[in-house]
Amino acid sequence: MTVWCLGSINLDRFYRVPHIPAPGETLAARELTTGIGGKGANMSVAAARAGARVALIGAVGADGAWARDRLAAWGVDTRFVATAAGPTGHAIIAVADDGENTIIIHPGANHRLEAGPLQAAFAEARPGEWCLIQNETVLQAEGARRARAAGLRVAYAAAPFTAEAAVEMAPLADLLILNRVEMDQLQAATGRGPDAQGVATVVVTEGADGATGYDAAHPGGLHVAAVPVEAVDTTGAGDTFTGYLLAGLERGMGLGAAMGWAAKAGALMVTRHGTADVIPNFSEIDANFGA
Ligand code: ATP
Repeated sequence: MTVWCLGSINLDRFYRVPHIPAPGETLAARELTTGIGGKGANMSVAAARAGARVALIGAVGADGAWARDRLAAWGVDTRFVATAAGPTGHAIIAVADDGENTIIIHPGANHRLEAGPLQAAFAEARPGEWCLIQNETVLQAEGARRARAAGLRVAYAAAPFTAEAAVEMAPLADLLILNRVEMDQLQAATGRGPDAQGVATVVVTEGADGATGYDAAHPGGLHVAAVPVEAVDTTGAGDTFTGYLLAGLERGMGLGAAMGWAAKAGALMVTRHGTADVIPNFSEIDANFGA
C-alpha cells in the first residue's frame, strides 16, 4: 500500500536577523540555514518516517534536484516530482532574536504542476490506497477527482486554509483534516459543524489540547488528548500529525488509534526546532512514549 501525496515542495531559507527589517531598511543576516519545507514535502516525510510507502506528486524547478535527492534519501518516492520551468517554490524566513518572524513565500514550480504526473501516478496506484492533498499547489480538485476515479480514498488537509477551497474539496474527500480555527471558519462559511460537512471523517487538531475526530461512529466527536511536552517550536506539528494519521490509517489502525499515534508524533515534533529534517521516526515515538 502506498500513500500518494499531491503537494508542495519548498526550499526554506532561514535568515537569522537582529530584528525584523522596517520598510526601506537593509539588514545583514547573521546566519543562513536551508532546509526542505512545503506541506507536501513535510507530510510525505512524516508518513515515510512513520513507516509508510509514500510517493510525492509535485514539481520543482531546475534548481530543485537537491530537494528531490534529499526527499528520495528520506525514503519518499520522487518519480512523480516533475521539473517545471522557473524556480522551485521557496520561503524566505527572517527570524529575529526575539523569536518574531516574517515570511515571504514564492510558490514557484508548485503552481506550475501539470496533469501529466497525476496521470502517471494514479495509473500505478491501487484501489483503496490513500491520496493526501493540501492547498499549496494547483490541481487539487482535479487530483482528487482523478484519485477517486482510480478508486483511491482522498484525504484533504485544508491548509493554508481558505473556506472556498475547503467547500470545493469537501465533496471530493473521505477525510478532512484542519485545525480548530480553520474548522470555526468553515463552520461560519457553511453554517454546518464538523459532523455535517458531507465528509465521512473530519479530524480537527487542537494544538496542546489534542485532536477530535468525527465520523459515523462518533458524530459527537472522539477526543484524543495531546501528550504533555515542553513545546519549543510548533512549526510542522500539523504536517507531522497528518503524515502519521495517514500512515496509521493506511496500516489499518482505527481512527482513535491513528489519532493517538499522530498526537505522539506531533508532541515530539514541537520539542524540536525545524521542519522536515527533524520530523520524528516511529522508533523515536516508541522510545519516548511507548508503542
Ligand atoms: P502548524 O500549522 O503549527 O503545523 P496546526 O495548527 O496545523 O499546526 P496543531 O493543532 O497546532 O496543528 O497541532 C497538530 C497536533 O500536534 C495536535 O493535534 C497535537 O496532537 C500536537 N501538538 C501540537 N502542539 C502541541 C503541544 N504544544 N503539545 C503537545 N502536542 C501538541
